[in-house]
Amino acid sequence: MPLTPEHLQEALYTVLDPDLGKDLVTLGMVKETRVDGDDVTIGIELTTPACPMKDKIRADIEQAVRDRASAVGAGVGAIHVEFTADVRRPNERVSDSPLPNVRHVIAVGAGKGGVGKSTVSVNLAIGLARHGAKTGLLDGDIYGPSMTTMLGLDELQGRAENNRLIPFEVHGIKTMTIGKLVDPEKALIWRGPMAHGAFKQLATQTEWGELDYLIVDLPPGTGDVPLTLSQLLPLTGAVIVCTPQKVAQDDARRAVRMFEQLGVDVLGVVENMSYFIGDDGKEYDLFGRGGAELMAQGMNIPFLGALPINMDLRRNCDAGTPLANWEGNETLAQQLDAVTQNLAGQISIASMSGKFVQPTLSVR
Ligand code: ADP
Repeated sequence: MPLTPEHLQEALYTVLDPDLGKDLVTLGMVKETRVDGDDVTIGIELTTPACPMKDKIRADIEQAVRDRASAVGAGVGAIHVEFTADVRRPNERVSDSPLPNVRHVIAVGAGKGGVGKSTVSVNLAIGLARHGAKTGLLDGDIYGPSMTTMLGLDELQGRAENNRLIPFEVHGIKTMTIGKLVDPEKALIWRGPMAHGAFKQLATQTEWGELDYLIVDLPPGTGDVPLTLSQLLPLTGAVIVCTPQKVAQDDARRAVRMFEQLGVDVLGVVENMSYFIGDDGKEYDLFGRGGAELMAQGMNIPFLGALPINMDLRRNCDAGTPLANWEGNETLAQQLDAVTQNLAGQISIASMSGKFVQPTLSVR
């Protein structure tokens, strides 16, 4: 006898989403169960198109269907698992968010400058977009905006309509930076309230449209902008970029504590410039590889992955051609993808667990 859709449903009750810890039926992820003779098709709606667990979920479904088939004495031919994705909103939603069409706002911070925070922000945003997520990148580093260079915006003309800034659409993402609104040679000196105002305008007066993820590249350290951001927008969480050295870890720890104090979940740590691969193919441990990973473990924060010092990465950043990071250097592409998918997984966990960060401080 052939399997029935009810058998498939029973099988799917036994398959857990490894990140979310519940079965696929209970999570509402099963969208289709179809039987065609001996062949079956199962449609699963993931909580993010960049799901790090796709392969495991597929294998677990295939196993569960075969187990169910043999338990009921049914034959089974090909098992087609078809994935779609719908990025879920956090369980609780602040209704008066100034960006109601943005599902997740993710801050990227670092204890100190020069550790690769902007580089990681760019690659996370583009990495998510490459998986099919609608993604924006806000250059929140109003003191030292990098996105004009890193995204190659020099030749593009900024536009505003009805007093709203129209984001630049490049490399598959939408982006806005103060670097395109001010003289590039001008020193950007902001007093506290002005920093607050400049950031607020960039964040809320940009016409982002519908976004699954808005990545916000923060200035380094623990100053005004993270405070403004956490007051202004409901954040799903923050990512900390850290190099492996002890001094970098010390500052990163302070950044973690700052987010905790602001009531923002830290979704994970990225260890950047973890090691260097020489022309001889040898890996050189310049800064104490694994230091940031140990720090993350010590603080009970997820570790999202490590990126080595990579000359292609630097070159593509300087040239404003970030898509080249995924073309022509397979290892780099895999490393970037791992960090991106790990973050997407953590965002799903944070938004499904019911934990949601409300802006608790009032803006003065
Ligand atoms: P931050 O935002 O923390 O100040 P940036 O992202 O601007 O740091 O990076 C500083 C410089 O280091 C940039 O020139 C960037 O291209 C380079 N860089 C960052 N990460 C790497 C890496 N993993 N390999 C090579 N160069 C890197």
